[in-house]
Amino acid sequence: MSEATRVPFNALAPGEDRADVDAAIRRVIDSGWFVLGPEVEAFEAEFAAACGTPHAVGVGTGTDAITLVLRALDIGPGDEVITPPLSAAYSALAVMMAGARPVFADIDPARLTLDPAAFEAAITSRTRAVLPVHLYGQPADMTAILAIAARHRLAVVEDAAQAHLATSEGRPVGTMGVAGAFSFYPTKNLGALGDGGAVVTRDGELAARVKRLRNGGQTTRYHHQEPGANSRLDEMQAAILRARLPYLRGWTDRRRQIAAAYRAGIDSPDILMLPQFDGGHVYHLFPVIARHRAALQAQLAAHGVETLIHYPVPIPRQPALSATGPHQCPVADRICGEVLSLPVYPALTDAQVGQVITAANLRT
Ligand SMILES: *Cc1c(COP(=O)(O)O)cnc(C)c1O
Repeated sequence: MSEATRVPFNALAPGEDRADVDAAIRRVIDSGWFVLGPEVEAFEAEFAAACGTPHAVGVGTGTDAITLVLRALDIGPGDEVITPPLSAAYSALAVMMAGARPVFADIDPARLTLDPAAFEAAITSRTRAVLPVHLYGQPADMTAILAIAARHRLAVVEDAAQAHLATSEGRPVGTMGVAGAFSFYPTKNLGALGDGGAVVTRDGELAARVKRLRNGGQTTRYHHQEPGANSRLDEMQAAILRARLPYLRGWTDRRRQIAAAYRAGIDSPDILMLPQFDGGHVYHLFPVIARHRAALQAQLAAHGVETLIHYPVPIPRQPALSATGPHQCPVADRICGEVLSLPVYPALTDAQVGQVITAANLRT
C-alpha cells in the first residue's frame, strides 16, 4: 500500500464551499444576532423550497425535530409509535423523549427499511403514528406504508435525517407524510458545523405549533402557553446551512456517482451488494453485506480504507431501550452482524474510489 493514500471514512471540513461558509460566519458575527433571527427565517424558506413543501422549522437537532413533531401531534404518554429496529438509536429515543412508546417492526431484508407487513402486524389500539426511516439515503417503501397508515388512520412522520433531497417514486422525502424530520449533524448529506435540525410540513398549523414548542412554548415573549422545549436553530448554523445548500444537488450527484462505481467495480464473492430500489436514493451511506465482516474490515483497513458499521446493535437490543419490552426483529439481528459501510462522500477522489474497489476485491 506504499503508493496508496489513506481513505478516511468521512471528510467534514468545508472544501469547495469554504469561502461561502467563511462569509456566512462573518456576516452573523457582524450582525450581533445569534439565535432565531433573519438567517434562520431565510434558511427555513430556502430549505422548504428545496424539499418542495411550504413550511420548514429550524430546530436544535434531528432528534428534536422528531420529538417536536410528535408532541405537536399530541402524541405522548400512553401512545405507541411504530419504528424500525435498524436506524440511528435517536429515531426511537426521540419517540421516548415525546413520552410515547417505540414499538419495533422488523426491516425488509433487501431494502433494510421498515417492512410494511411487519408494520401492519405491529399495530394495536394504542398506535398513533409510524416513523419510517429513509435509511442510508434510500427511501422506505412509502407506497405500502402510506396505504397501511391511511387504512388505520395513523400519522406518518418521516425520519429523513439521512435522506436530504431523496425522492420516492419522484416524491420528495419528508413531504409524503404529515411531516418530515431532518438532521444537519456534520456527517449528514447537508451538515452544519455543529448541531441542527428541521421539521418540514405542508401543514401551516403544525409548523406554527412546532415553532412554539421549540421556543419554550412561548406565544409572545415571556408568555408560555404550553411546556415547550428549548431547541432552537442558531443563526450561525442557519447561515452556514444557507451557504452550503446550493452545493447539495452537486454533492448528491457525486455520491450517486461513487455508489455506481462501487456497484460496477466490486465483484468479490464475499461481498453482497444491496439492491437500489429507487433512483431517488441519495447514498448517505454505502453499506454492503459481508458474511466475514471482521476479515473484510481488516483487509480494507490494511489497505488504508476506513469503514464503519451502521449499526452494530438493533435499537431494541440497546440497554437504553430495555424498558420498552421484548421485541422480535430477526432480520435486523442478522443484518447488524453483517453490514459494513464503505466511504461515500463528495470529496472522495476517483483514485480513492478505485483504491476502495481494489482493496475490496483482493482475494486473501
Ligand atoms: C442523525 C440521525 C438522527 C438524529 O439526528 P441528530 O441531529 O443527531 O439529533 C435521527 N435519525 C436518523 C436516521 C439519523 O441518522
